[in-house]
Amino acid sequence: MSRPQTTAFIILYIKRNVYDFEKVRSQFFILFSTHACPACQEVGTLKKHAWYIKYYYNEQLQILRCICISCGVTHAIIPEFSLPGTSIGIEEAEEYIKLREQGQGRGRASKVFSGEKVMSVNHPTVLDKAFRVAVERAKAIFYGQVDYTLKGCAWIEALTGKKGRPILNLNQYCLEHRVNGVCFTRYSVLLFRENTSRNRIPHNTGAVGTFKVVVDSW
Ligand SMILES: [Zn+2]
Repeated sequence: MSRPQTTAFIILYIKRNVYDFEKVRSQFFILFSTHACPACQEVGTLKKHAWYIKYYYNEQLQILRCICISCGVTHAIIPEFSLPGTSIGIEEAEEYIKLREQGQGRGRASKVFSGEKVMSVNHPTVLDKAFRVAVERAKAIFYGQVDYTLKGCAWIEALTGKKGRPILNLNQYCLEHRVNGVCFTRYSVLLFRENTSRNRIPHNTGAVGTFKVVVDSW
């Protein structure tokens, strides 16, 4: 087990009731042998590395990390339902953001986190800010690609061409464009390229299929 110092991640498309760390670990090669490294975009270079514990609400999840033997970057393999950098679930966070954009107050919107998914009182404010910062960062990184005046989820939809799932879609878009996910990572944005402030990122890079692993069942 290693410390969770990894800042880069890959999204594994899997539901909570299907996620099984031991299976992810034992079937790593089958799952990721054709996956591109988000950092260098080489294919077939990811190797199992280590693991750490991440919270999903009050549950402890084991998270596998892999390392790219080409560029040396390690990536945490974060299951889709768990929001990187936090212990909350991505679907509830997205629902909260949607309600806030529809004009609901923090108190009411945060009722999406109820029962076992209840958050600390500060969390809604943190969520609002984290989402705003994520969109601002992404707007700076992908500057000029879509209408800058669009806000929040509307801007993400325009950028990614996908409706709904704003956090998931934005992070996936980033990973396919050599940018570490920007949504809710605690770290400053990790750009997998050099001299990024001057080079505009092409709108379409990489082959989509090789950036996405979906597990519906084992
Ligand atoms: Zn790499």
